[in-house]
Amino acid sequence: MPRQIEQRVTCPYCGEPQTILIDPSVMQQSYIEDCQVCCRPIEFQVEVSADGEDVSIMTMTDNE
Ligand SMILES: [Zn+2]
Repeated sequence: MPRQIEQRVTCPYCGEPQTILIDPSVMQQSYIEDCQVCCRPIEFQVEVSADGEDVSIMTMTDNE
């Protein structure tokens, strides 16, 4: 079963913290998921290091 990394991010619309799960086997991924609080679409851009230990996440509003 693939390991998943739990990360905390902040919604760019309402500023509320979100918990998302990252699949570290994909080194570059971007996707859109609705905020768990305000339900607006957050665009996530995720980069995972080669060893799968280091994850960086950028969050953007859909219309930027
Ligand atoms: Zn929100």
